[in-house]
Amino acid sequence: MLPKYKRILLKLSGESLMGDKNFGMDSAVITQYAQSIKSIVELGVQVAIVIGGGNIYRGMNEAETGIERAHGDYMGMLATVINGMALQAGLEKAGVYTRLQSAIKMEQIAEPYIRRRAIRHLEKGRVVIFGAGTGNPYFTTDTAGSLRAIEINADVILKGTRVDGIYTADPEKDPTATKYDTITFQECLSKNLRVMDMTAFTLCMENNLPIIVFDMNRPGNLKRVVTGDHVGTIVNG
Ligand code: UDP
Repeated sequence: MLPKYKRILLKLSGESLMGDKNFGMDSAVITQYAQSIKSIVELGVQVAIVIGGGNIYRGMNEAETGIERAHGDYMGMLATVINGMALQAGLEKAGVYTRLQSAIKMEQIAEPYIRRRAIRHLEKGRVVIFGAGTGNPYFTTDTAGSLRAIEINADVILKGTRVDGIYTADPEKDPTATKYDTITFQECLSKNLRVMDMTAFTLCMENNLPIIVFDMNRPGNLKRVVTGDHVGTIVNG
């Protein structure tokens, strides 16, 4: 089976790691994600990953946490490193070679983010996990995903979510909502469909980086996406 994409960036939310739990991570989810990722590495796809931190800490809500926004955001970035390490452990257990690179220096546990080095790892078939988001407060891990995808010249950004694509309305609230197979960046804007936050979305749009939103929790889906099956919703053009 020939993959459609040579190099991808997979964006996973921190919350997805929780599975049915209320906090932290579920080892069954990590094992399933590791197997899914392994299946596309075996096809020869170069895989980079950005993972969120929302299952551990979200900095944005100063009113709720009582912690100043920028300070909380740094805490959120550290949470993404913990998730990155968990995913790294799961992947290595599955026999996949990995490197974790952090946007905030933590030399004992991760390489510093170095773009050319990340590309070299990818060329050697290693999965590269980018931790600590962009390294800057006031950004999200979606933005980190878009930014890193563009930097490494990924063919596409794959946003793994709980829903299987972009709908006319929130399918968890509106039963009449229907799914788009494809949609343009402009249509998303005019219909006010929030695929990612604006900073992340704009980066993709301005750099012609297609986004595929798909359900990562269904085993086999990731492989279907990279082999060109029509899974989820693709945003391009
Ligand atoms: N964060 C940040 N800069 C970044 C990426 C993340 O400040 O470049 C912080 C921000 O506080 C965010 C938290 O890290 O709330 C966790 O990331 P995010 O909420 O994007 O994770 P997800 O929703 O994907 O689990």
